Amino acid sequence: MQSKAPIVVVLGTGGTIAGIAATPTDHVDYKAAQLGVAYLVAALAATAGVVVETEQVAQFDSKDMDFATWRRLAQRLEHYASRPEVVGIVVTHGTDTLEETAYFLARVVAVAKPVVLTGAMRPATSSEADGPRNLADAIAVATQGEAGVVVAFAGWVHAARDVRKIHPYRLDAFASGDAGPLARIEKGRMRALRGWPTQDTVGIGALPADASAWPRVEIVTSTAGANGRIVKVLADAGVQGIVVAATGNGTVHAALELALVEAMQRGIAVLRSTRCLEGGIVGDAADATPSAGDLTPVQARIELMLRLLPPGA
Ligand code: ASP
Repeated sequence: MQSKAPIVVVLGTGGTIAGIAATPTDHVDYKAAQLGVAYLVAALAATAGVVVETEQVAQFDSKDMDFATWRRLAQRLEHYASRPEVVGIVVTHGTDTLEETAYFLARVVAVAKPVVLTGAMRPATSSEADGPRNLADAIAVATQGEAGVVVAFAGWVHAARDVRKIHPYRLDAFASGDAGPLARIEKGRMRALRGWPTQDTVGIGALPADASAWPRVEIVTSTAGANGRIVKVLADAGVQGIVVAATGNGTVHAALELALVEAMQRGIAVLRSTRCLEGGIVGDAADATPSAGDLTPVQARIELMLRLLPPGA
């Protein structure tokens, strides 16, 4: 007989949540992406009345995330979301680029179901492993949340638009900055704190199948003593877009700004974000380069890539 219980699909991509160390007290010297996602799900004590299916989409440290995997992940999300019996989808992911994948998916895939990314700061073998709690919470959010891409981590739910990794080691390593989290997860129940965001999407069809054909966009940082040489090198190397991580409220060192304006004159798209940890650029009076508003530099890079996609890929 077929199960009538709702189905949540968990897609595995690796990360610390699937990592192992030599001893339970080793929280730092471990190997990420060693355990399969089916194993991580089987190790959960309970999955709150849902049937969980799994698929291993990738298996690596998320510092090595690549465009081909992003596209495949987007395709698998779309596939599972189209099955009526699937209520939500969870993605287990390394924490290093989790915010980039969350933003990318939110801007690309239109799914009418919750998509919940999660991970862990301690390997699965750790005596303080946070992966099982985060995964169980993510499954709960996949059944209780609204449509759209969010991150469930350390008892909080963050919108893809706002989430940032803010700490390299602490268990509570993600935050939503000024916007604040979307919800709390308390003993498997989600308590909403503000409205669920909606997001425009470009659609998977916009992404070239050949990942090497994706627009090349790089990030440069405005710093004390900056100069424009790096911009010239990038322009000569054929980049199509440059994001500048500007200081404060979007200010850029004069020498770097001059080089960016010259790059724009050569047809390179430029977007200016702020390197401040919270908040976005306010106002745009008399700015030499276009503002990315409240997007972080890594979000602005994704945004510029999507804008520069070849038509009809
Ligand atoms: N380097 C790991 C990764 O991003 C870190 C983690 O998952 O916490 O895959």
